[in-house]
Amino acid sequence: MIIAIDGPAAAGKGTLARRLAAALGLPYLDTGLLYRAVARRVLDAGRNPADPQAAAEAARSLTQADLARGDLRGGAADKAASQVASIPAVRTALLEYQRKFGTENGAVLDGRDIGTIIFPNADVKLFVTASLDARALRRHHELSARGQGLTLHEVRAELAARDAADANRKAAPLIAAADATLFDTTEMSAEAAFTAALALVRAKNDV
Ligand code: C5P
Repeated sequence: MIIAIDGPAAAGKGTLARRLAAALGLPYLDTGLLYRAVARRVLDAGRNPADPQAAAEAARSLTQADLARGDLRGGAADKAASQVASIPAVRTALLEYQRKFGTENGAVLDGRDIGTIIFPNADVKLFVTASLDARALRRHHELSARGQGLTLHEVRAELAARDAADANRKAAPLIAAADATLFDTTEMSAEAAFTAALALVRAKNDV
């Protein structure tokens, strides 16, 4: 079974995907980490994440160790991930890995283009979103807990810029698949989202 969970940053995709995967005994892949790891490699090499050649080379030479790094979230990596993700050769280099991961034993995958490009025939597709203000508050809370001192205003501006870049790029833009079920978590607790998503999966797949 393939469950595709797409949506903008800080909408609650990761939490929902992880919980669904655990409840259903499926592997989980956070595909944002792939783009983040590519970005990290480019930054570490002192190259520009917007340079298609530098980014494509990094994507083609990605290793498991790159994905296990502890510094893939926050700061420069957020913006750089979105920059490398707009480069078609980077997306092509990462596509097979994602498909293989999903088809081996089934999986829950979260990202931006899982239901549209990576697994257009996924068994269940969810598009998880929330208002910009709600997402900014959540992300600010998370970052503060990790000791990163960005203001709420800065976090909101960063999310808005990343949403715009992800939605307006030509390659695999952030968009809900026509057959995805929309989950707006602005007023919905993580628990309620999980319960509703699990019910949907069970109704569709008889599991
Ligand atoms: O999900 P996360 O915020 O970690 O993703 C980081 C960036 O990676 C996103 O802003 C987006 O540009 C890119 N991404 C993507 N396609 C995916 C997952 C992430 O383009 N499937």
